Amino acid sequence: MKVLVINCGSSSLKYQVLDMTNEILLAKGLVERIGMDGSVITHEKIGMDKIKTEVPMKDHKDAIKQVLDAVQNEEYGVVKSMDEIGAVGHRVVHAGEKFAESVLIDDAVIAALEECVELAPLHNPPNLLGIAACKDLMPFTPMVAVFDTAFHQTMPPEAYLYALPYEYYEKYGIRKYGFHGTSHKYVAQRAGAMLNVNINDLKLITCHLGNGASVSAIKHGRCIDTSMGFTPLEGLVMGTRCGDIDPAIVTYIRRKENLPQGVANEILNKKSGVLGISGVSSDFRDLEDAVAEGNERAALALRIFAKKVRFYIGAYIAEMNGVDAIVFTAGVGENDVNMRELICTDIGNLGIKLDLIKNKVRGKETIVSTEDSKVKLLLIPTNEELMIARDTYNIAKKVK
Ligand code: ADP
Repeated sequence: MKVLVINCGSSSLKYQVLDMTNEILLAKGLVERIGMDGSVITHEKIGMDKIKTEVPMKDHKDAIKQVLDAVQNEEYGVVKSMDEIGAVGHRVVHAGEKFAESVLIDDAVIAALEECVELAPLHNPPNLLGIAACKDLMPFTPMVAVFDTAFHQTMPPEAYLYALPYEYYEKYGIRKYGFHGTSHKYVAQRAGAMLNVNINDLKLITCHLGNGASVSAIKHGRCIDTSMGFTPLEGLVMGTRCGDIDPAIVTYIRRKENLPQGVANEILNKKSGVLGISGVSSDFRDLEDAVAEGNERAALALRIFAKKVRFYIGAYIAEMNGVDAIVFTAGVGENDVNMRELICTDIGNLGIKLDLIKNKVRGKETIVSTEDSKVKLLLIPTNEELMIARDTYNIAKKVK
């Protein structure tokens, strides 16, 4: 079965077509500037050059139409007709407490996700637009929703409840939900495969370090804690997000700078993190270039980032009473040799020893710990699209 994976943002859309009989990627692409001037689709049939086409797209339905045209194109398409696409998998950011696993989309599921819009006002609406567009254009193709929050639904209340009046949880669903779940789940499964140990016998800490960043504690295959919270703002220091801070700071800055609510949110989400500390960039490559030129604040930003990752690693070792392996994934985790070194320096007493030579690797599944390290350190490139396609395939084949 061939599966189309759709990841819809507010003005952009990423897609992939995979053949799930052998889990091979056939084509992928990106639509940008949906609903704006200069909307453009970049399509790549694997093994061929990328093709970039500017074409007006007034909404997500137009964008999906362009995607369907591209995947059926005689020259660079990968199917003869849409009948060959057995199912569509949609990335959906927030499922609240409603879904703990991926689900076949029907009207009841759409209604449930609409109820979750309040929890993710920036992310769920474009996800729902993508679902509606596909439903219009391919009404008889099964569709599956795969959620960023689902994998974290196994957290116990001790991990997900905030110490606020309990009624806010009951009335508004204020609790920790966690994000990047598809990525944490994927790398946890790969860790089991790499170590040749059943995931149910492992204690894992997975560090998804990208522009957004989160750490999860995965005990015997189940997520028991994660660093992102009610929103993706909590936890680690990120590219532009502040992560954990004293909540009183927000009121204080708003008063001092006379800021309206929206601006305060913008500062915490878009102007903080390593960008805020360094004043240079949210991109770790830029920061490392700045450090090489002697920029002290860029160096400080990287040290603060690393310290926070170590803080969560320590906390999760305590929560799980040990750890068998720590996984690094996403843009920074997969590629930033120096950052992995900074995170793993001087924690040998916890049984964590990085092999400095093996660590000089990028974007390839590798064990980067020393032979005598009690805790294995793993570099695992994430693949959220494959995970979405797998869930989609497994659910859709039952209804076909
Ligand atoms: P997201 O999906 O959250 O946008 P990614 O997981 O793609 O993020 O990570 C993007 C980030 O990864 C970049 O902003 C950059 O900081 C970092 N990154 C990518 N390649 C490298 C590299 N070679 N060295 C250091 N950092 C890198």
